[in-house]
Amino acid sequence: MTENTFDVVVIGAGPVGENVADGAVKGGLTVAIVESELVGGECSYWACMPTKALLRDAAALRAVRDLPGANAAVTGELDATAVLARRDAFASHWHDDGQVAWLESAGITLLRGVGRISAARTVEVTAADGRTTALTARHAVVIATGSSARVPHVPGLADAAPWTSREAASAEAVPGRLAIIGGGVVGTEMATAYAALGAQVTMIARDGLLPAVEPFASDLVAERLKAQGVALHLRTEPESVRRDVAGTVHLALADGTTLVTDEVLVATGRKPNTSTVGLDHVGLTPGDWLRVDESLRVLGSDGTPVGDGWLYAAGDVNHRALLTHQGKYQARALGETLVARAGDNPVDLAPWGRHAATADDCAVPQVIFTDPEIASVGHTSASAQAAGLRVRAVEYDLGAVAGAGLHADGYTGRAGMIVDEDRKVLVGFTVAGPDVAELLHAATIAITAEVPIDRLWHAVPAYPTISEVWLRLLETYGRAA
Ligand SMILES: Cc1cc2nc3c(=O)[nH]c(=O)nc-3n(C[C@H](O)[C@H](O)[C@H](O)COP(=O)(O)OP(=O)(O)OC[C@H]3O[C@@H](n4cnc5c(N)ncnc54)[C@H](O)[C@@H]3O)c2cc1C
Repeated sequence: MTENTFDVVVIGAGPVGENVADGAVKGGLTVAIVESELVGGECSYWACMPTKALLRDAAALRAVRDLPGANAAVTGELDATAVLARRDAFASHWHDDGQVAWLESAGITLLRGVGRISAARTVEVTAADGRTTALTARHAVVIATGSSARVPHVPGLADAAPWTSREAASAEAVPGRLAIIGGGVVGTEMATAYAALGAQVTMIARDGLLPAVEPFASDLVAERLKAQGVALHLRTEPESVRRDVAGTVHLALADGTTLVTDEVLVATGRKPNTSTVGLDHVGLTPGDWLRVDESLRVLGSDGTPVGDGWLYAAGDVNHRALLTHQGKYQARALGETLVARAGDNPVDLAPWGRHAATADDCAVPQVIFTDPEIASVGHTSASAQAAGLRVRAVEYDLGAVAGAGLHADGYTGRAGMIVDEDRKVLVGFTVAGPDVAELLHAATIAITAEVPIDRLWHAVPAYPTISEVWLRLLETYGRAA
């Protein structure tokens, strides 16, 4: 059985599992990775890549339409077939040969099948043909099995063959009518995409649209969705769903409204992929999110590491930040941690230390690719107050920034920053407007580096760019006393 013993066994070859494996192998460890579907995970085939490909053409068209000269060159409408074809290419046509070749070149051993912890440091892999292989980990097992769509218990919904984000990301055709349950990131992005692709979109959002972002940003998205013809049913929810023999879906809402649609997309959050990973063998409850310590070791119900600390969890499955870039950040830290611990070397878990995924707590950047885009990092005004910080929020009209007016006629947007008044540093930044995504990293650096507000005055934004909003926000804030 020696060939089935590795230093590290990783369950799940999504972006996070792949990066943990890569880091461990680069540090001289042997690694086996187990994957039950496609190497590359949700992000590559059903999430980040295909959804952003669905949104990109419409964003480019909007940019052109806001410039009269360029608009004169646009003679037709969006070609949905071409958009879907380009999306297919970005999802690698749902083949993982490229990623498998990369695993091989990196020296990582791939096992196809469902991985399940069967004993301490042991993972049993069940292949599609039912054959099982037992893998032993000398140092660590890493759970990187990600998350999947959570479908709420609404009478009739499961039987109505609803779309989840997977079907929305991989649809072969644009439905005539699409109802979307949920007003979070997936719901609003897919409403933006499918409305632009020609579907008649209806949204049902019990908690309103994008409740976790600054209200000025979600308001702008709501306005644009309405302008695109999207019907918004906010503060209500479906009470029953039925697909009739002709395939039409009927939704009865709590506020008495009845909706008729061709497809219904459920975008009401995620659940961890932990129900079949063998958590019962380590005293944890299958189906739960995994709680981890600063080194990403899985914690038991008593708050101490499971076993003698051989089990780790990274990415969506630990519920710290359900984003590819944050999961890969955890993976980089974890890869190096595993190497250090295997060599009995110290692990640097000090705040901002080499092995600490500290940014998960305070500086998570996120871009929501709606119309307009929303880019945010760190706190909102509401989350800062909930965290007990004494903060001041300032906002500025992005349309009044010279570079924005030049960027597009009628440019509409807004930016806001949250300043910790005790430390006089930035703890949050949100910007909403066309083409603002690339502005975000400056804010991420300001927050993680804890740049004093007074020093930010010396970071001069170039004229005439949209980034001059930084100067306008500082002027609105005023010189720190
Ligand atoms: C519609 C949508 C759009 C998104 N867009 C973005 C975006 O633009 N930017 C961004 O940063 N994030 C985005 N995300 C989030 C992003 O997709 C996730 O954060 C990311 O995929 C998490 O990576 P992961 O490796 O933890 O998990 P996953 O990508 O889910 O990978 C986990 C892997 O584990 C495998 N697996 C599960 N159980 C087992 C088992 N028992 N045995 C073997 N293998 C197993 C799965 O098959 C999968 O391949 C989006 C999510 C959705 C749903």
